[in-house]
Amino acid sequence: MKPIKMVDLQTQYQNIKTQIDSAIQQVIDSTAFINGPVVNDFKQDLEKYLNVKHVIPCANGTDALQIALMSLDLKPGDEVITPTFTFISTVEVVALLGLKPVFADVNPDTFNINVDDIKKLITKNTKAIIPVHLFGQCADMEEIMSIAKENNIYVIEDNAQAIGADFFFSNGKISKSGTIGDIGCTSFFPSKNLGCYGDGGALFTNSDALAEKLSYIVNHGMKKRYYHDYIGVNSRLDTLQAAILKVKLQYLDNYIAARQKAAAFYDKAFASEPKLKIPMRFAKSSHVFHQYTLQAVDFPRNELLNFLKEKQIPAMIYYPVPIHLQKAYQHYVKAGENYPISEHLSKVVFSLPMHTELDEEQLEYITRSVLEFINK
Ligand SMILES: *Cc1c(COP(=O)(O)O)cnc(C)c1O
Repeated sequence: MKPIKMVDLQTQYQNIKTQIDSAIQQVIDSTAFINGPVVNDFKQDLEKYLNVKHVIPCANGTDALQIALMSLDLKPGDEVITPTFTFISTVEVVALLGLKPVFADVNPDTFNINVDDIKKLITKNTKAIIPVHLFGQCADMEEIMSIAKENNIYVIEDNAQAIGADFFFSNGKISKSGTIGDIGCTSFFPSKNLGCYGDGGALFTNSDALAEKLSYIVNHGMKKRYYHDYIGVNSRLDTLQAAILKVKLQYLDNYIAARQKAAAFYDKAFASEPKLKIPMRFAKSSHVFHQYTLQAVDFPRNELLNFLKEKQIPAMIYYPVPIHLQKAYQHYVKAGENYPISEHLSKVVFSLPMHTELDEEQLEYITRSVLEFINK
């Protein structure tokens, strides 16, 4: 059996090596390392794939979130609602810009932001909501967009984990995740569903005005060279990374299908096991399985993880501490707010190996080992 990894980027690379190597070599031969032509080619390919008007590439997913907020003319102290059960970037950028993060709890079955909680948290200072499509499945964008519209607030989608997922509106319309809110943000971190070979990120929007502004902000707020209309940052997608992403984008749907196949294998093995809660499928979204995340029901999760480790099976906890309990962020918690679901989830969730190269032998071994521990 091939050694089991949380993410197997080596085998994935071997399978597309000729194309990737030639794409990289072409960039080196051209020496167009910054804003080379392939950055624009990739941008256009991604716009087509997502069916969105504008993609603005940038240096990483955290920058994408920061740049999105920078484009909205917010004032210090303006409130931004985020889930507390997420990766730190979602909240970090809000705090960094002097805005005020306001935490919402999540749903216990989808792990995504709780819409009723959002409604309760809205004040006259609320300016934006950042739903996170956690683990590869969309938050309830239909409800979130209607709340946002009613209250005149922006929606920035943190789509770092869900690129390629479809959202199904009740009127039959289907949109790609990240293209529904005012701005969508994604990351091309190597382990993400569309990953490059270093750091990378992008913003998506259907607004011409926002797209124009975002494209200046990523490049020092520069409209014309050396004329700065906005305060910006230096956040560009490397040409080398764009060349790699242009190749890998062609395989994104295959990669998603491979992840979904692995998830179906896990589901089948665990569905009838009362001590495991398999990831729920939200009817309004497809699931692209950035992670396959189980919940341990009444047994010590960490003992299972140790058991798996002895069997050379990696497993991870995403996320062990919700943001409202993190040292640097505790002071943002609103008086009277508590987050029982996120706190519970942080104690019971664990994610099994999930990537595009898992084979049946590995999946068989992983599922057998998990069940062996549970039925001990
Ligand atoms: C990975 C990730 C980010 C940040 O992406 P980077 O490219 O690493 O900066 C933001 N939000 C979520 C939910 C993520 O998983």
